[in-house]
Amino acid sequence: MSDDCKYLEYCPIWENLESNLKYMWIKSYCQGIKQSECVRKAIADAGDKAPLELLPDGTLLPKSAFSSDD
Ligand code: SF4
Repeated sequence: MSDDCKYLEYCPIWENLESNLKYMWIKSYCQGIKQSECVRKAIADAGDKAPLELLPDGTLLPKSAFSSDD
């Protein structure tokens, strides 16, 4: 089974992360076999909102990695 994660279209970390490394994460987690291990997905499935800086493996990125359009 390799369906995309149901949150992929609007997962805020990818909308705002500036590094092209995000495509590696998306390929292995959001569109790949590690999708069921994603901590962001677990939080969303529980009805909560994951922190923007939280990577699928539970690592927190610095705020400076994100575009600031506010
Ligand atoms: S980061 Fe996690 S919750 Fe977001 S789209 Fe990818 S697998 Fe889904």
